[in-house]
Amino acid sequence: MNYQKILEEIELEIQGALEHGKVADYIPALAEVDPYQFAMTITLESGEQFSVGKSKEKFSIQSISKVLAFSLAIDIYSTSLYKRVGVEPSGSAFNSLVQLEYENGIPRNPFINAGAIVVVDALITHFGGNYAALEKVMNFVREISGNADLQFDAIVAKSEMEHASRNLALAQLMKSFNNIENDVHDVVQTYFRQCAISMNTQELSRAMIYLAFDGKDPISKKEFLSEAQAKRVNALMLTCGHYDASGEFAFNVGLPAKSGVGGGIVAVVPNVMSIAVWSPRLNSHGNSHVGTLALQLFTTKTGLSIF
Ligand code: GLU
Repeated sequence: MNYQKILEEIELEIQGALEHGKVADYIPALAEVDPYQFAMTITLESGEQFSVGKSKEKFSIQSISKVLAFSLAIDIYSTSLYKRVGVEPSGSAFNSLVQLEYENGIPRNPFINAGAIVVVDALITHFGGNYAALEKVMNFVREISGNADLQFDAIVAKSEMEHASRNLALAQLMKSFNNIENDVHDVVQTYFRQCAISMNTQELSRAMIYLAFDGKDPISKKEFLSEAQAKRVNALMLTCGHYDASGEFAFNVGLPAKSGVGGGIVAVVPNVMSIAVWSPRLNSHGNSHVGTLALQLFTTKTGLSIF
């Protein structure tokens, strides 16, 4: 298949859609991004990459980082983690409080904010402190991407901390149900720093290829997750990766994937490739409008979906 040609066709076809949607502005530092940008990269088993658009431009990976933290946490806690966070789609917005009250402070899944905050809390407990936990997440992303230079953007993290009421409320509510073990402020700050990791589509697509190959990176040959664990992460990406639009995304794209409010989406085609796409304007569910469209075009043109 001529992947470069397919990506170039997609880049042309999405042009008219670049003005639809709205950049996330509840984190002021994200609102400053040029909204008309687009990039897409695929990484194959051999390590070969194909890209279009601004594939070297870094952006805030935001909720895509939840996949990294969850990968680390299941390796440490195994099934005991599921006492604190479920594995069901929420059908609610990424930062909803309502369900959490009804369900006794146990978030539906690790990819909504409440669930990701619990995962960060579990990492802080295990590694003995918030800085140690963040360092482990950073080291994990550096290792899976083969790039020791990756950093989080302190300005984005600070900007989110200044507008943290909703996430602090989620964490406080869970603490009232004894589902947060550490200091709420420390947990939320660590969560924001993890969300503020900066990567471009070339780096992100390279980093996530372990999920396309049963937890083992086919390029470095390092095993990051067992086959069973990778299956679970992919299943959660398929069912919960796009908040209350997860069904719609599976319906239109047909791949396990995770989005972030920075406008990035990563997707995996099992045993074939990992894909990263970025365009900052979001749809009403908080997922990249053009990113979703580009992935839909990709699976339609190539027939590469899991269905
Ligand atoms: N840091 C963001 C928040 O907690 C992540 C949300 C997202 O990317 O969907 O609101």
